[in-house]
Order: sequence, then structure tokens, then C-alpha cells
Amino acid sequence: MTRVPFVAGNWKMNTSKSAAIELARGVAAGAPASSVQVGVAPPFVYLDAVGQAIGGSSVLLGAQDCYFEKNGAFTGEISVEMLKDLGVKFCLTGHSERRHVLKESGELVGRKAAAVYGGGLTLIHCVGEKLEERDANQTLAVCQKQLDELSPSTMHDPDRLVIAYEPVWAIGTGRNATDAQAQEVHAFIRGAIARKWNKDFADRVRIQYGGSMKPENAAGLLARPDVDGGLIGGAALKADSFLAIVMAAR
Ligand code: PEP
Repeated sequence: MTRVPFVAGNWKMNTSKSAAIELARGVAAGAPASSVQVGVAPPFVYLDAVGQAIGGSSVLLGAQDCYFEKNGAFTGEISVEMLKDLGVKFCLTGHSERRHVLKESGELVGRKAAAVYGGGLTLIHCVGEKLEERDANQTLAVCQKQLDELSPSTMHDPDRLVIAYEPVWAIGTGRNATDAQAQEVHAFIRGAIARKWNKDFADRVRIQYGGSMKPENAAGLLARPDVDGGLIGGAALKADSFLAIVMAAR
């Protein structure tokens, strides 16, 4: 089964408006037109400017978060409809910083995931264990629980469902999972998706690795059979390093 790899940059709460535009232009200028899907997820307030900067290129615009309601009295929140209005094509849910720093519950993450997918966007649903959970041999159980936030009865298009395996201990720490550790969990995730949906569906779902992926370790991770791209934090803040990872995914 050939899956087109998907490499997405999560800019988190970084950049200024001018830096975001410059970074976006750099990514758009160097991104290949085919063989790998490339996306950038800037802060909400720069989505419009970044969308214009990547306009006409193959780079997809993404959001780091959203709220599950369509509109109404939800001060400070952003709906999927609002994201679509700005040309957003994909949205993350369940990033470890939202789960563990912003204290989002699994139930809230699941409602957001349903809203993203139900609204017609591509969903990048993040799963991954904390260090103490890995040490206690709970890695696969944690990933299963976070995958269970997704509902197979409402998600039918495998091309719009992406799972990002992001071990929490690897995010922003400079300590990536080894190629073998990543492959073990990715294979588990694909099996879990096959059990929840079916094998054909699971074979088409992209599973990204995230957690200190950088140009130096990308090729090894991406060479593993179940690693279908990356979700990149720190290394996505410079066009050169991000594009080096993109090229490794081709
Ligand atoms: C992330 O936040 O999704 C991430 C993978 O960050 P980093 O690449 O900096 O570890």
C-alpha cells in the first residue's frame, strides 16, 4: 500500500506576523508539488496572512486547535467553520500540550476531533505516552485509549484521518524515539485502527511521527514502513530544516 507521506509544521505559539509570512513563503518556495504532502499550522491570528503567503503553492494551511461548537457564546474560541472560511484544510486535536498543559480531557479532545472531521477538514489526531507511562509499559494502552476518542461510525474517509504518534517525552526535548521504538508503536496504531475500522481503512491512514524530528534523524524514522511523515515543532520554525525533513519523506 503506498501512502503519500504528510509532513506538517506545528508552529505553536511562535513567530510574529512578518516572521510567519517569511517562513510561509520559504516553505512554499521549496515544497515539492507532489510525492509528499506539506502543511503548516501557524497561530490562529496569522492564519489569514500565512494562507495568502502560501496561496498558489501545494502547501496546506492547518490549525493547531479549534472548538467543537459551530458558533455562539464561547469567548475566545474558534470554530471549524471559521477555520474553513480562512482556507484551513487540516486541524490538530489532542496535542500533548493541549492535553497536559491546557488540561484538555479525552472527552473534549474527542468532541473536537468529531467536529474537525465532521466539518470536512483533515484531522491530525495526536496520541502518545508520557515518560512515566513508557517506563510502566503503558505506552500501547495510552495510545489505544487516545485512539478510542475517535468514532469509526462517523469517520469513513481514511484520507482525511491522520494519526500523529508523539511520545510526550520526545516533544521539544531533543530526545527522539528511536526508529525501532517509533515503528513498534506505529504498527500497533495501524493494527488498532484495523480493529476499530478495518484493514483496508487502516492501510490508507497516514501515521506521522512527532517528537524532536529533525533533518539528522528524519531519514531513519521515515524509512520505517509504518511511519508516513512527521509532525514537526521546533525544526518547522526554519524553512531550511523543515524542507530538509520534507525532502527526506519523498
Ligand atoms: C510537536 O509539538 O508536535 C513536536 C513534535 O515538537 P518538536 O518537534 O519540537 O519536538
